[in-house]
Amino acid sequence: MESLPLRAELLGEEPYGAPTDRVPVRLNVNENPYPPPEAVVQAIGERLAEVAISLNRYPDREVKRLRSALANYVGRGITASQIWPANGSNEVMHQLLGAFAGPGRSMLTFSPSYSMYPVYARDTMTVFRSEERGSDFSINLDAAAAAIAADPPAVVIVASPNNPTGTPLSRSEVLSLHDLVAPAGVLVIDEAYAEFGDGTSALDLIEDLDRLVVVRTLSKAFGLAGLRLGYAVASADVVDALRIVRLPYHLSTTTQEAAIAALEFSDDLLAPVAEVVRERDQLMVWLSEQGIPFAQSQANYVLIGPLANSAEIFTGLRDRGVLIRETPIPGCLRVSIGTPAENEIFRKEFGEIVHRTGADS
Ligand SMILES: *Cc1c(COP(=O)(O)O)cnc(C)c1O
Repeated sequence: MESLPLRAELLGEEPYGAPTDRVPVRLNVNENPYPPPEAVVQAIGERLAEVAISLNRYPDREVKRLRSALANYVGRGITASQIWPANGSNEVMHQLLGAFAGPGRSMLTFSPSYSMYPVYARDTMTVFRSEERGSDFSINLDAAAAAIAADPPAVVIVASPNNPTGTPLSRSEVLSLHDLVAPAGVLVIDEAYAEFGDGTSALDLIEDLDRLVVVRTLSKAFGLAGLRLGYAVASADVVDALRIVRLPYHLSTTTQEAAIAALEFSDDLLAPVAEVVRERDQLMVWLSEQGIPFAQSQANYVLIGPLANSAEIFTGLRDRGVLIRETPIPGCLRVSIGTPAENEIFRKEFGEIVHRTGADS
């Protein structure tokens, strides 16, 4: 059979996706381990039943009520005109490249980082560039300055806390990067995990920095990964640019209404964050006690390593019903924080395998 007339850069590519083995303990995609509380389930169900009658009509193209609800959640004097929601923060960042990057332009990130960034670049025909992080996964600002001056990127995307390392950017690093990127480009800070951090957020800089875009999601701390809702916070001008590239009626009535209903319960939905943070900190203490290396995390996962035999540890855990994540960082594995019971099982099985394989020596 003749091969399809695909774009050359898509030939042989596989769709993105973590393995979704149905094992008992799944600690591989940084989900919140708890389902939404009963009151939220009720509220979403009622709201969807109310709007089902209007599904013959297209949704609100401008997503006005949901943008107001998100602005209210974000606070800091940010208005609905500065908020742009889409189907997950992945779609938001894809739209950002669609608006600001594209053919003849480049984006820059700092590796290791989220594996989807090069995919957005490929799909929008943007040149993908990346500078290596240091051994502690920090960004070398001098090297960043040189790379940006040599060939100014249209978009710079930095995850904070970073995935898969869990390491955050400081306020002064965001300020320095913005100085380097603006006004020729746009600086995107991907705060998918910010709610698990110490409260530092680039949202506090939105009013001062007009080329700054902060991207957030309901997929992680809110525990609503299945809802598919992420949003950008930026100047109203940046939001207007995203409105140009979005597909018509990109956010369904059901998504908009379910998200509005959920945001009325943001305190209840975010309640488990404190437990996850406690469990993460306990895991890091345990790793130190075991003499196992790891990166200091501000997210709901911990990067463990480098370990000898990390591949063997990964499959050993999977055989014992515990799925974690392999990473492109040599010898490093990433584990999401689950329920206390799941974390206990992880520590027991991981500890046994590591000591048996002598991987920590
Ligand atoms: C999980 C994750 C997201 C969230 O994606 P959604 O499309 O909002 O589910 C964004 N950025 C990073 C770095 C992530 O790990």
